[in-house]
Amino acid sequence: MIEWLGIDHLFELSGSEAIAGFLTPLVVFAVFFLLQLILPARKVPGYVTDPATGEPRRYRLNGLLVYAVVLIVWAFELTGMERAWFYRSSVYAVAGGTVLAIIFTLAVVFSQPKGENENTWLALWEGRAREVSFLGVDVKMYLYVVGGAMFALNALSGAAYHYELFGADSNPGVFLYAAFFAFYIMDYFIFERVQLYTYDLIHENLGFKLMWGGLIVYGWLYILPLWGMAVHPDPGFSGPFRYVWLIGTPVLFLGGWAIGRGANLQKYTFKRWPDRKFLGLIDPVHIEAGDRKILCSGFWGVARHFNYLGEGFLALSISLVFGYVGNLWAWTYFIFIVSFFTTRQIYDERFCAEKYGPEKWAEYQERVKYRIFPGIY
Ligand code: NDP
Repeated sequence: MIEWLGIDHLFELSGSEAIAGFLTPLVVFAVFFLLQLILPARKVPGYVTDPATGEPRRYRLNGLLVYAVVLIVWAFELTGMERAWFYRSSVYAVAGGTVLAIIFTLAVVFSQPKGENENTWLALWEGRAREVSFLGVDVKMYLYVVGGAMFALNALSGAAYHYELFGADSNPGVFLYAAFFAFYIMDYFIFERVQLYTYDLIHENLGFKLMWGGLIVYGWLYILPLWGMAVHPDPGFSGPFRYVWLIGTPVLFLGGWAIGRGANLQKYTFKRWPDRKFLGLIDPVHIEAGDRKILCSGFWGVARHFNYLGEGFLALSISLVFGYVGNLWAWTYFIFIVSFFTTRQIYDERFCAEKYGPEKWAEYQERVKYRIFPGIY
């Protein structure tokens, strides 16, 4: 089965290596926690309010610095760990990390009052509290620093493995893939404060869904395409098609990234400075809904979740970048992203109709007809 799937190379660890792989997330989680705790951080007010004080919750943000440190440690093998280790130990690390995510969930959920959610299983899945801090570190932001940085490190580690395997016959698509996500995560940390204005921070509670999703799915399983693709050499395209492939996929990636980043930044600008033109160009046209405002110009006037279309284009570039479009592994990220965001926007619209009032949200739906893909959906 494993051979048929083409991932037998991920099961080649010796007995002691398998144990080390299983324990790798434990070390990773501890090191990230220490780094977040001791490295200097920007202290900023967030978007969600602290129910105890009614004031915006405060955050310590140092994701970019943590990311820079772990990249340097990994790249120069400063701990003696080989660069391909994260990739080679993926399967064992997912198993060990999942056990830890279960333990963290039990600790976080059972340390919180029951609240409205009486069902214990549902509480474990969805969580009870929206915010929890540990020694001054916000748990949600910790999840995203670990998840984001490990996603990039796992992608880079897979590229290192691929190079060891193929040398001169390496697939440039694999290096592009790793570069895309090293850049994507760097951008994420540069705009870390914008993350405070997004769905997970606003709506999600801290249960297994977010814990496992943030640490393991984001950190380790997002590189699923590489599980299958790292063991294939350069697909050998020649002539103009090679240029179409090697230039076209980065263009598609950057196009998708620009839509997502642009939309997120516009919403962030609007929330912080409601009267300011976005990039000095786009008027903040909005619908008044009591003391709230629905933005409906620029990216938010094209489709109600245009940012998700950006993620879709970006994910499509991932499916194409390896040059093996007939291999299902190349499409795993795309399939996940499309299913994830088509579901998420349904929930988000439900929350928004509640928050802004059904009439005002319907007015927005009337004004901005499409959900994600203008003219199509
Ligand atoms: P959004 O940033 O769209 O956040 C949704 C919230 O924004 C809503 O609940 C609402 O909250 C506010 N909002 C939505 N529409 C409007 C509007 N028209 N006017 C004013 N406020 C509005 O969603 P996400 O957090 O899901 O996504 C953020 C970014 O992160 C996206 O680019 C997404 O693609 C990316 N992302 C990527 C993932 C990946 O795996 N690659 C996973 C998750 C996110 P309120 O009114 O309370 O402000």
